[in-house]
This record gives sequence, C-alpha cells and structure tokens, in this order.
Amino acid sequence: MNPSRPRVVIVGGNFAGLVAASRLSDDHDVTVVDARIDFEWTPNIHEILSGVKTRSNVVLSRAECVERYGHTFLHDTVTRIDPDNEHVLTESGLVLPFDACLIAAGSQRQTYGVEGADKHALNLRLVDDAVKIGRRLDRLAARDRRASVVIVGGGVSGVEAAGEILRRRGQGDEYDIHIVEMESRILGQLPRGLAKDAIARMEAHPVTVHTEETVEKLTSRSVTLSSGKKLPADLCIWSAGMTLPGFLAESGLADDDDTWLPVDEMLRSCYDGNIFVAGDCAELPEPVRKQAYNAMNMGEIAGDNIARLLAGRRLRRFRPSPMPMLVSFGDITTWLVAGDFVAASPVLATGKEAVYQATMARLASPKQPLKYSSEIIGRASLATHKLLLPQLTAQKIFAGLMGSRIVS
Ligand SMILES: Cc1cc2nc3c(=O)[nH]c(=O)nc-3n(C[C@H](O)[C@H](O)[C@H](O)COP(=O)(O)OP(=O)(O)OC[C@H]3O[C@@H](n4cnc5c(N)ncnc54)[C@H](O)[C@@H]3O)c2cc1C
Repeated sequence: MNPSRPRVVIVGGNFAGLVAASRLSDDHDVTVVDARIDFEWTPNIHEILSGVKTRSNVVLSRAECVERYGHTFLHDTVTRIDPDNEHVLTESGLVLPFDACLIAAGSQRQTYGVEGADKHALNLRLVDDAVKIGRRLDRLAARDRRASVVIVGGGVSGVEAAGEILRRRGQGDEYDIHIVEMESRILGQLPRGLAKDAIARMEAHPVTVHTEETVEKLTSRSVTLSSGKKLPADLCIWSAGMTLPGFLAESGLADDDDTWLPVDEMLRSCYDGNIFVAGDCAELPEPVRKQAYNAMNMGEIAGDNIARLLAGRRLRRFRPSPMPMLVSFGDITTWLVAGDFVAASPVLATGKEAVYQATMARLASPKQPLKYSSEIIGRASLATHKLLLPQLTAQKIFAGLMGSRIVS
C-alpha cells in the first residue's frame, strides 16, 4: 500500500461494498477484500433452479470491476476487524491497516438450531447454492417417482424459488412442492392482497402452503413440523432466517443486545468513528428492508462519506428511497409492488430483467457502462432467448396483457 494516500479497507465487495468502492477515487488507497471471487447478483439466483440462467449469467469478475474502479481486490477471508489498532486481519495472515474502513459483509444463514437442518437442508443464498439445488432437481426429475421438495420460508425468495421449480414443468419435470411458513401467511412483509393472489396462482399447481408451522426436525427423507405433520422431503431448501456473519460478532462494533451492527444516519458505526457499515449487516436508527437496492444506496453514501471524512468535510445522511419491487413466480406471473399497490402480469418479467441488465452494466463500469457491452450483450442475449422470448410470443403477450391485473 502507498502510505501517502489514506488507506481504505472495504470488507465485502458485493452490492454495498462494490458500489462504495466505485465512489472512491484514486486519491485513496482502496483495498476491497472478499472471500468469494465473483460479484453475485443474488436477487436472480432462483432462476438457476429452472435453468433460465446459469452461473455465468449472474456473476461479474470482482477483480475486473475493482480494477476498473482503480483499486485493489484481495481474494481472502477477513477473520477479524480490530477497531482499536485500526486494522483488518485475514485468513491468509495479512494485516491490513486502515484510516477508514467499510464493513459490507452482508448476512449468513440462520437455522435456529433445528435438528438436522445444517446437515440436510440446502441453502439458497449464493450462486453456488442455486447451482447445487438445480443439479439435485435434475437428478430427482430423472427418477420414476415424483419428488417432494420442501421450501422452508414463505418470504420472497421462498416463493420465487417455488415459481422457478414450477417453471421446469415446461420441460416435463414435475415435483410436489411444500412451503413452510411460521407466520399466518406467506410474503408477510408485503401487502396481504399479494399473498392472496400468490396462493390463488399456486392452487392450479402441486404446491401446498403450511402456515403457522415451524420446522422441528429434518432427516434426509422428511421434514417434521411443529404440529407433528411429517412431510416427505427428497430435497429441503432453507430460505428462512439470516444473522450477522460470525466474525463480526466479536468485533466490538455491536453489544449483546444488537442483532446487526448499529450505525447512525451517516452510516458510521455507533462504536467507532472511522468505521462505516452498509448493506444487510447495518442496523440504522430506523431499520430498512434488507434488500439489494438499499444495500447499493447505502454503499453510495458510505463511499462518499469515507471520502468526506478523510477530507475533513461534513458527512451526508442516508435517506432510504422506497422503490417498487418486482417479485417473480416463474413463468406464471410477476408482481409489481409499490407501497400497498400490487399489479400482476407475466410480461412484468421483462421489466425485472431490464433492471437487472442495467444494474449489472453499471456495476461492471459505472463511468462507461457501454464499454464492456460485449459481456453484457452476451448475458442479455442469453436471457432474452431463455426468459423474454418465451414471454413475448404474440399469444403470450395477449395472454399476458389479458392476464395483467391490479391485485390490490
Ligand atoms: C435468494 C435471494 C433472493 C433475493 N432477492 C432479492 C430481490 O429480489 N431484490 C432485492 O432487492 N434483494 C433481494 N435479496 C437480498 C439481497 O441479495 C441482499 O439484500 C443484498 O445481497 C445485500 O447486499 P450486501 O452488499 O449488504 O451483502 P451481500 O450481497 O451478502 O455481500 C456480502 C459480501 O461480503 C463477503 N463476505 C462476507 N463475509 C466475509 C469475510 N469474512 N471476509 C471477506 N468477505 C466476506 C461475501 O462474500 C459477499 O460478497 C435476495 C437475497 C437472496 C439470498
């Protein structure tokens, strides 16, 4: 590192960390450390389950992105953040001193100590998790007997996963799907009308929703619920619960009562003035949804505030901007949610794809998104082929428009 420039270490280079890095100039000596080699677009990983997307469609080379921003990428796992000595320690034994640090390490899965969950349930958090589930679904489809898939968690990612598994019926793969949800309805953080509409779409398919149920025990063949019901499970997908990554719990940046790392409105740690926190692992005074668009917006402010702090300037406040949300249900429908307003149409899938393509291009190169257009065009043409064209036949457009509905 060049000691003449202020040193910035960014721990975690996905949504929040990568955007923050893109906001810092080469006036700073910036190192982005991440345990995984590629940037992963998690909001679309469920599409790997149906084969609409593959691994390469939802990742970017993190090293190339960081290099284009003019910074250094280090592929390593951070084991400790030491605020007192102002350095970060990594698994490979490196000590990275900093003048300012951003923690953007996201979250990790939480199985609440459920017996058998760590051994038998497959995660759906990373691209490689989705690839693994996709392969299991392939193997199950090749058998004579119809397989039973249990999805634990009826939130957005659980419902989207169910939709992609249903999309496989187009290639003749049929599964019985069970969704287990502890609350009284699925999609609990979204309008009630959306949950009702989702249940109505599911009724035409072999999907059973079990609400007000928790999972008590998992084996390689079954899932036992709190009511005593035992569901057959050739595959169990764990899509419920998240918590602070373990290495942050001992960082001194949270106390025993904190679930996440508390920050002020400027995204500065409540426990250390030179450390900022952005994305899923941050807890604002007014908590926001743990979503990619919030993580990116926080990354922008955190990057700017690090530059401002190091230049002795006033910091900016993070103000969450509510964004409409698109929730997909395979090729059956996509819902647009804006506050209490919900509309549904299969054609909205094209909107979701457009947001994804535009944001990937911006992350690949914020200043010249078109310069790296060949990889983007490659991704877009594949997605167009597999995802958009099947929706855009005249018959589908007609059915889609006819099937467009205001849900609530
Ligand atoms: C299946 C699924 C579907 C989703 N769908 C949507 C959606 O439709 N819309 C939406 O807005 N959001 C969605 N989300 C949520 C969204 O993905 C998260 O809010 C977002 O990823 C948070 O960004 P982040 O930068 O805070 O953390 P992350 O994206 O989780 O990135 C954290 C980074 O830190 C790195 N890291 C962690 N620990 C270490 C360590 N010890 N050392 C080095 N590096 C480390 C990780 O490798 C990772 O790259 C979805 C999430 C999932 C799992």
